[in-house]
Amino acid sequence: TKVTEFISQANGKTLFSIEIIPPVKGQNINELFDSIEPLMEYKPPFIDVTYHREELIDRVGTNGLIERIPVRKRPGTVGICARLMERFHVDAVPHVICGGFTREETEDVLFDLHYLGIDNVLVLRGDPEKSAGVFQAKKGGHTYASELVTQVHNMNNGILLNAETETAPTNFCIGVAGYPEKHFDATSFDTDYEHLRRKVELGANYIVTQMFFDNQKYFSFVERCRAEGITVPIIPGLKPLATKKQLSVLASIFHLEFPEDLVKAAMQCASDKDVRQVGIEWGVQQCRELLAYGVPVLHFYTMGKSDNVAQIAKQVF
Ligand code: FAD
Repeated sequence: TKVTEFISQANGKTLFSIEIIPPVKGQNINELFDSIEPLMEYKPPFIDVTYHREELIDRVGTNGLIERIPVRKRPGTVGICARLMERFHVDAVPHVICGGFTREETEDVLFDLHYLGIDNVLVLRGDPEKSAGVFQAKKGGHTYASELVTQVHNMNNGILLNAETETAPTNFCIGVAGYPEKHFDATSFDTDYEHLRRKVELGANYIVTQMFFDNQKYFSFVERCRAEGITVPIIPGLKPLATKKQLSVLASIFHLEFPEDLVKAAMQCASDKDVRQVGIEWGVQQCRELLAYGVPVLHFYTMGKSDNVAQIAKQVF
């Protein structure tokens, strides 16, 4: 089922969903599944699974010299999607990224997903490699998410990259990312909205936002999107604050501002256990307001631990 169909079938009722991150290579996948099991009570119709690019690491080669090799720290997105659907009877929404892939490699991954019966993909550019600082496409790969949206849209119309024969079309529902606090690479809010609108014009069916802690940022974002003629559903992405350190780490990784009241409440806490509680209370308030606004889905970034998401869901659904 397509994400947009879940939304329209809900008839205005807000849905619950989550994003999970593949474990570090070699770790037990069942631990991840066990950790999200309690969230199934809130009936997520779909679960997102992130995709991670390879990063260059230094290692000592057989000749004793240091060599740089690309290593994917968190592989397994496609396999995790298959297991998720089997174990929880939910739709899996794999993320598909431009970074580190040629167009042909991407086409192959999209066929894996299609053959698994996956109906949705969240199409992203991917972050820059840590060692590079700025995003660089792989030779033969896409530079912007909009190009990957076009590739998926073409596949949905039976158009492949180098096919000699006519092909059966795929039928992916396409999600893309939006940034209520502006994407860090964008020179201005105006150009960022322009690029977002372009992704929708090229075939994106819905938007999921970067996390935000101040609902006003989301409300302004939705208003501006509507003014730009973007009519697709805009799903708010949410992450409960869990530690004091996240105040600086999340702000710098995701380029967001924390509201003063939340910072103050967290800084007054004696321990991170108390910060976690503050994060839950803040999340509950945020969700209640978003529910009243009529958002289609409350979509949570679990980032490994999900007890706090369960506590929020328990209070708002
Ligand atoms: P784009 O839409 O391509 O935009 C990137 C930047 O380029 C923006 O500043 C945009 O304004 C600008 N731009 C776009 N088009 C043009 C153009 N034609 N000319 C000039 N500038 C242009 N990363 C992962 O690696 N794996 C994941 O699984 C993942 N999941 C995510 C899920 C969500 C909901 C979100 C919000 C982000 C996720 N990310 C993930 C992070 C994402 O890959 C980064 O934020 C990345 O830096 C941008 O991706 P994008 O798809 O928004 O890029």
